[in-house]
Amino acid sequence: MLPGKPPHLRVILLGRDPASETYVASKERAAREAGILAQTVRLASGSTPQALLEEVERANHDDSVDGILVQMPLERGHDSRKVFDALDPLKDVDGFHAENVGRLHQGRPRFVPCTPAGILALLDHYEIPLAGRRAVVLGRSEIVGKPVAALLTSRDATVTLAHSKTQDLRELCREADILVAAIGRPGLVTADFVREGAVVIDVGINRLDSVDSAPENLRGSVRVREALAAGKRVLVGDVDFDGVLPKVAAITPVPGGVGPLTVAMLLRNTLQAALARRQSAATELQPKER
Ligand code: NAD
Repeated sequence: MLPGKPPHLRVILLGRDPASETYVASKERAAREAGILAQTVRLASGSTPQALLEEVERANHDDSVDGILVQMPLERGHDSRKVFDALDPLKDVDGFHAENVGRLHQGRPRFVPCTPAGILALLDHYEIPLAGRRAVVLGRSEIVGKPVAALLTSRDATVTLAHSKTQDLRELCREADILVAAIGRPGLVTADFVREGAVVIDVGINRLDSVDSAPENLRGSVRVREALAAGKRVLVGDVDFDGVLPKVAAITPVPGGVGPLTVAMLLRNTLQAALARRQSAATELQPKER
């Protein structure tokens, strides 16, 4: 751990979206357990883009703050890109500032976005070889799909980035040794998308609150059926877990797979930011050579 003050993460939460509240609470809890000071600034629903940018500026200039996270998604009327641009890139622990995105794509990352970093950490932990393997990444978001594709490419996988306009998606996915699904479509990836022995990473987090909201193939899942019958909401991924399980070499569940790793990587990035800031402060204090 760091000598002196603990690393300090400033979370900025705009509005009262229940899912965002849950994510922020789990980040605060994990930070506390890791000895990181996490402080959430809450802006009322309907706050202006100017008010949000001012809050970011305040955190940028607050010397006690090591890392800043603005919880996404933002409310309508806000432009996430403007918010990322406003962040101090040295405190951008989500890795979404253009400078950090550029560094990642050039193969000299500073802060790797948390979900993609978590996916690579999982693959490495289970010693899944990447070099020369065929990877298909479903979804081309700035937050998951594109950075995952960049990271897998930098590790010598042969990567195809697929999206909503991709033709013959099923056939393409069946080519994959490693299939990463990040599309936000419950259970879209069924057994016929997956080749025998593939590794499947399910990033999707989709909330089902009634049998009607569940796609046909997921209604067969005991977990989904029982939760919905009990009137509970249930979280499912983009992959039909039960259907795909018999074919795969490895698969991540939802919940409990990529999600916790995302939080762990946020803590790692915050620690990295704090270390870098303390090192640069220490260097500035060194007497200059004559
Ligand atoms: P997004 O919602 O911004 O974009 C979805 C992407 O999927 C787009 O690129 C679109 O082209 C593609 N897509 C949509 N429908 C498709 C289809 N039928 N076939 C092929 N491609 C299709 O993406 P996001 O923000 O990366 O989120 C994706 C999912 O991952 C969501 O369920 C989100 O909740 C989840 N997520 C999870 C974590 C985590 O920590 N586990 C983190 C971020 C996002």
